[in-house]
Amino acid sequence: MIIIDGSQGEGEGQILRTSLALSLWTQQPVRIEHIRAKRAKPGLLRQHLTAVQAAVAISKGQAKGAELGSRALTFSPGKVQGGDFRFAIGTAGSCTLVLQTILFPLLLAERASTVTITGGTHNPSAPPVDFLQRAFLPLLARMGAPVEVTLKKHGFFPGGGGEIVTRIQPCPILQGLELCERGERRRSFAEAYIASLPVHIAERELKTVGELMNWRKEQLFVRGLSGHNGIGNALGIILEHEHVTEVFTGFGERGVSAETVAKTACDEALDYIASNAAVGPHLADQLLLPLALAGSGRFTMSAPTQHFTTNAAVIERFLPIRIGVEKKDLTRYDTLIVL
Ligand code: ATP
Repeated sequence: MIIIDGSQGEGEGQILRTSLALSLWTQQPVRIEHIRAKRAKPGLLRQHLTAVQAAVAISKGQAKGAELGSRALTFSPGKVQGGDFRFAIGTAGSCTLVLQTILFPLLLAERASTVTITGGTHNPSAPPVDFLQRAFLPLLARMGAPVEVTLKKHGFFPGGGGEIVTRIQPCPILQGLELCERGERRRSFAEAYIASLPVHIAERELKTVGELMNWRKEQLFVRGLSGHNGIGNALGIILEHEHVTEVFTGFGERGVSAETVAKTACDEALDYIASNAAVGPHLADQLLLPLALAGSGRFTMSAPTQHFTTNAAVIERFLPIRIGVEKKDLTRYDTLIVL
């Protein structure tokens, strides 16, 4: 049994999700201790518990300690079975993070899967669905795994109530990926989603984006959502390049001005542009797992985040690979994954 210390690095939920995914992929039991030890509310929250339940459901595995607030979990995976699954987080906990746990294991199943997850689709500190659709999944498709995520209903923090449906075809062998240059910029634009809130919030966000990014009106889009999408707002800045698309998101929050939400997203986008790296910090930590499963890969990124370093350390506990990071030039780091 592999024992993982959930308090290492940032002591965050990613340690649990990566451990479950790799336990399923390698068919090795795992025990995770001190789960989310460094978070204000340690232990399993609804999102993490749903991820555990999903890991159990797709493999008929067994979990001890699968309760809200639990700080230790023992998971014994069974063989991964494809099929139709439905998971309800019950809060605005992130649907995409639950998906992250079972997406790769389901590639190993003998038949296709359809996974419906309800909860948050656009909440802070998690990949919004647009990020998966535009940035992450096209890279996975290039690795040989076409995965399709459909957003049925937006779910914003704190109300939740969103829904995504994901179709996964079996693909037990992933091809490696080299992503050292982003290539020519093809298109850049911003979208402000607004649901049951005054439209001036979206307009002010886009005005700020126009000023900070020096973009024209034709690059700025208000996306008004119908009432069944709950209440909320998110702003996406999309940079499409020849080899990669990046998405930077600001999340509307009560008490935070539209201008501040926009500035946060623009700052991330401007840092990325200045770095000249192929991938931004979020894509970097999320690409590690598929590249490690492929057994080879390389990409350039701006300075490694603690999320990145922790995720790499967990992955190296399960797989016979080495993840090396070297400074390439003033702004870029080279990440190399080798067997
Ligand atoms: P915890 O509450 O313990 O922090 P968590 O389970 O909610 O845990 P993290 O462990 O912090 O989440 O992991 C968050 C993941 O979401 C990381 O992979 C990170 O890169 C990704 N992420 C966060 N914000 C964004 C964003 N704006 N765009 C894309 N991905 C994001």
